[in-house]
Amino acid sequence: MNERKHVVVIGGGVIGTACAHFLLQSGWRVTILEKGTFGNAASHANCGFVCPSHVLPLAMPGAVRGAMRSMFARNSPFKIRPGFRLGLWRWLLDFARRCNQADMMESARGIQPLLNSSRTLYDELIRGGIECEWQTRGLLFVFHSREGMEHYAETNELLKKEFNASARSFFGDDVRQCEPLLKPGLGGGWLYESDAHLRPDRLMRSWRASIESRGGTIRENVAVLNFIRSGDVAMGVHTSEGELRADALVLAAGALTPALNEHLGCRIPIQPGKGYSLTTTRPKHCPRMPMIFEEHRVAVTPMHSGYRLGSMMEFVGYDDSIRPKRIAYLREAASHYLDEPAGETVEETWYGWRPMTPDSRPIIGRSPSLDNVVIAAGHNMLGLSMAPATGRLVAEILNGNQPHLEVSPYSPRRF
Ligand SMILES: Cc1cc2nc3c(=O)[nH]c(=O)nc-3n(C[C@H](O)[C@H](O)[C@H](O)COP(=O)(O)OP(=O)(O)OC[C@H]3O[C@@H](n4cnc5c(N)ncnc54)[C@H](O)[C@@H]3O)c2cc1C
Repeated sequence: MNERKHVVVIGGGVIGTACAHFLLQSGWRVTILEKGTFGNAASHANCGFVCPSHVLPLAMPGAVRGAMRSMFARNSPFKIRPGFRLGLWRWLLDFARRCNQADMMESARGIQPLLNSSRTLYDELIRGGIECEWQTRGLLFVFHSREGMEHYAETNELLKKEFNASARSFFGDDVRQCEPLLKPGLGGGWLYESDAHLRPDRLMRSWRASIESRGGTIRENVAVLNFIRSGDVAMGVHTSEGELRADALVLAAGALTPALNEHLGCRIPIQPGKGYSLTTTRPKHCPRMPMIFEEHRVAVTPMHSGYRLGSMMEFVGYDDSIRPKRIAYLREAASHYLDEPAGETVEETWYGWRPMTPDSRPIIGRSPSLDNVVIAAGHNMLGLSMAPATGRLVAEILNGNQPHLEVSPYSPRRF
C-alpha cells in the first residue's frame, strides 16, 4: 500500500491554512504546527476584506514624502521608529528605491493575479461549506474632501486602463445612495463592486474544522526551532516538543518567517507592519457597506455578528503593546464620517503584525537551498485576500504540476 506523503506546514495563520487545504485536497498527509493558538496572529481580527481592488503596492511615487510627513505628525495612522534595527533600515531603503512608477507597475502586475484567483476560489470555498459571514456588497472608498475624491480619479483611471479594475464614482452626497448612514457634506466615494468581506476568526474556525474533518492534524503550542537537514533536503523539523519527520515543509510563519531563514539560501526581508482593530457590538444604526475612509486610513467592517474598525501601519519592530491612544484614534477618525462610529460594547481590542516585504509582493516558491521546502510568506496587507490562490500555488509547486499562475513575481530569489 502506498503511504501518503507527509507535509508539515509551519504556521497556523490564513496562509498556512490555505496551503494545508489544497495539499490535503491533492492527497498529502498534512500537519500544521503552530507555536501559539491556531489563527490567533495576524489572521485573527484583521479587517476581513477580500479585495481585488487593492492592486497597487504600498511603494508608489510619493510614498516616501507621505511617510516622512506622517512621521512628524501627531497621532498619524502611519509611524516609523527604526531605532537601531538594521534590518528595518535596510527594508526602508529597499522600499524607498521602489517608490517609482515602473516598480509600482511591476509589483501591481504580480499582485493582481493572486487577488483575482483568490476571489474566485473564495466563492468555491463558500459553496463548499466554509462559514465566515461572507458578504459580497463591494467595498466603498470614502473621501472626506472633494479634492481627495477628485484626486483619486487619476488612480481609478490607472486601475481601469491597466488592470481592468475600475470603480463607480459617487460625488458629494450621492455617496449616501451607497451608504445612507454617512454624514452629509463628504467629498464622495468610489465603489469597487467585485470586493467582498468576511469575519476572519469565523473563517479560521470553519477552515480548521474542514481540515480536521478531512484528516489534517493541527498541533498548537509547538514552535518550530529549526530544520533537520541532509544535503539539500529537509528531513523534518526540530520543535519545542521534539523532532517531526516530513517529506516536505511549507514555511508560512507570517511576520516571524525571518527567524527561520538560516537554511533557506535566500534573504527573507519581511518586517512587521503593525496594525490595530477595535471590535464592538453592532452600532444601533449599523452601516451596511464595508468602507475605507481614505484620508484618515480607517476601515469599517460591518459583520453579521459584530462591527470592526481597523487601521494603522507602524514600523516599530516586534512591538506587542496596545496603547489606548491608538485605539481611540480609530473611533475619532470614524466619527468624521459616521454619527455612530462604533457600537456600545467593546468586544476586543487587537493588534496584528502584517508580514511586509519592500515590494508588497509575497514570497512564494521553493527555497533555493532546500528543494523540498516551499516558502509562503510576506503577504503584506492582503494575506486574507491572497490566501486561497497562495495555497493552490503551493500545492501545485509541491506536486510538480503546472502552476495556475505565473510564479516568477513571487520568487524567493528576487531579493
Ligand atoms: C489591522 C489589520 C487589518 C488587516 N486587514 C486585512 C484585510 O482586510 N484583508 C486582507 O487581505 N488582509 C488584511 N490584513 C493582513 C492580513 O492580516 C495578513 O496579511 C495575514 O493575516 C497574514 O497571514 P499569515 O498566515 O501569513 O500570518 P499569521 O496570521 O501571522 O500566521 C503566522 C502564524 O505562524 C506562527 N508561527 C510563527 N513562527 C512559528 C514557528 N517558528 N513555529 C510555529 N509556528 C510559528 C505564528 O504564531 C502565526 O500564528 C490586515 C492586517 C492588519 C494588522
